Amino acid sequence: MSEYNVLEMARQQLYNSARYLDLDDGLVAVLARPKRAVTVNFPVVMDSGEVVVYEGYRVQHNPSRGPTKGGLRYHPDVDLDETTALAMWMTWKCSVVNIPYGGAKGGVKVNVKELSKREIEKLTRRFASELNIIVGERSDIPAPDIGTNAQVMGWFMDTLSMQCGYTVPGVVTGKPIELGGSEGRVEATGRGVIVCAIEACHNMNLNFEGSRVVVQGFGNVGSVAARLAEREGAIVVGVSDASGGIYNPNGLPINELYEKYTGVDGGIQNYKDCEKVSNSELLELDCDILIPAAISAQLTAENADKVKAKLVVEGANGPTTPEADKIMHEKGILVVPDILANAGGVVTSYFEWVQDLQNFFWEENEVNDKLSKIMRRAYGEVAHVMREHNTDMRTAAMIIGVKRVADATIMRGIFP
Ligand code: GLU
Repeated sequence: MSEYNVLEMARQQLYNSARYLDLDDGLVAVLARPKRAVTVNFPVVMDSGEVVVYEGYRVQHNPSRGPTKGGLRYHPDVDLDETTALAMWMTWKCSVVNIPYGGAKGGVKVNVKELSKREIEKLTRRFASELNIIVGERSDIPAPDIGTNAQVMGWFMDTLSMQCGYTVPGVVTGKPIELGGSEGRVEATGRGVIVCAIEACHNMNLNFEGSRVVVQGFGNVGSVAARLAEREGAIVVGVSDASGGIYNPNGLPINELYEKYTGVDGGIQNYKDCEKVSNSELLELDCDILIPAAISAQLTAENADKVKAKLVVEGANGPTTPEADKIMHEKGILVVPDILANAGGVVTSYFEWVQDLQNFFWEENEVNDKLSKIMRRAYGEVAHVMREHNTDMRTAAMIIGVKRVADATIMRGIFP
């Protein structure tokens, strides 16, 4: 994903929070490692007839609070360390919002942009087959992440269902609605980001309405966050996708960008009424709220002191390095951490799983209301701990997230 060692970064965050909780060293050692990590190498026959061997992973970090949960990523930089870090973050994320899951993550090292739809389907079906030994609706439930989507989840579910002889919708979340997906799931992560941004604005005496927002990334999280920000009255002045960034201090027409320029060659760079900026310039633009919603390690020791936003809300997983956290905290920038800010996705995944297990489906309003309620409650709890311990918000979220997992691990005891 980047030069930065994200597993080291995830462990540093854990050690930092463990100091506040006075945790036993043995327990910290348990929490710093995944319970189970599987590497699979599997062949796919490409459209050309060539056989390519792909490497994939599934890491289950800690199941003390329930089945493990987390996305599947298809990206050329996927590796075992990054997957492990992402699995750890999923554990704390599920714990911070208090849903009954542990964390997991999986992925395949692949550039899906180079594959045909048929090749992606074959890769997914073979990967699902290889993971059959460790995933399950009661044990470990995958979901979409970078490079995967509802269709991929549909193929994943179908493959596992074929192998056991009946349909098991609860084995993955983020599926198409027609296959047992939930209303509101696609928008859920972006929606949660905006709920957090609005809550943070209240606490900071900042008006969300009229505030200037910059969003890095225009994928599932960034594009939804940008559209909802605009709908709530903010002015989105900068956005970026893989092709680079665009900026207009008077505001960008987010719906038009989404409808006309996503999924086309050159992406949002095709839009004319703006200034072109690089992805790194985008992070330093003059704005009130910055939403990094792309990949990890984007705000680092090199650029953190140039960030002009007053509020950073992390739509991506791990976009801020520990050095950057320190610099921004000293500058008085509030960083709403990933494990809280982007938890809306897994919260609605939880709703999807509950609906699948009960075969009883909810309306979109009900899903969104329940999501907002959980996000606001979690935000309030984290803000309270932040004030109580006088820390940055990541440390506060980690204190809550790690404590619930540590308590559950202690209560369950160490087998045998
Ligand atoms: N991949 C998403 C995340 O990082 C969602 C995981 C899920 O819904 O299980 O939070």
